[in-house]
Amino acid sequence: MKACYPGTFDPITKGHLDIIERAASIFDQVDVLLMVNPRKKCVFDAEERKTMIEKSLESIGSPANVRVVIGEGLTVEFAKKIGAKAIVRGIRAVTDYEYELQQATANMMLGPDIETMFLIAKPEYSFLSSSVVKEIALNDGDISAMVPEGAAEDIKAKLRGMADVLK
Ligand code: ADP
Repeated sequence: MKACYPGTFDPITKGHLDIIERAASIFDQVDVLLMVNPRKKCVFDAEERKTMIEKSLESIGSPANVRVVIGEGLTVEFAKKIGAKAIVRGIRAVTDYEYELQQATANMMLGPDIETMFLIAKPEYSFLSSSVVKEIALNDGDISAMVPEGAAEDIKAKLRGMADVLK
């Protein structure tokens, strides 16, 4: 069965990568869906985010059943288009649940044949978010433990540049 894992990944964190790895061990194929939403302000552009996800995948041995796809519009419509039967999402805490429940219920109405399936974050990643990574890196903090090895340098370089501009 094919699944997709949609998200913004601005940037990818170890928490995201863990969800990808676990989903890849359950499903035959996992398409990481980098959803581009023009109303969402991102630090990294779509190509940069895609490259960072691909470099991160290399650091876990490039699983053969995972690929990264850039998409836009409604996730559920994109899932239908690529033939995914499941939408994978990660849940860190109760605060994620409320938002995720709303999205999953809307997706259920739009695409009743597609199941949203939740994977619970590993405890060591349950505090981790792209925003936390950006905030720490912008303030010259060490993000090495939070982002995949393959992507750390790209993330640091970009945010270091931005920190200089903001100073
Ligand atoms: P979105 O804007 O679609 O929420 P994100 O890139 O922030 O995109 O997150 C994509 C998915 O990954 C969401 O389901 C989110 O809950 C999940 N996620 C984010 N951080 C983590 C983490 N540290 N551990 C597990 N899941 C996570």
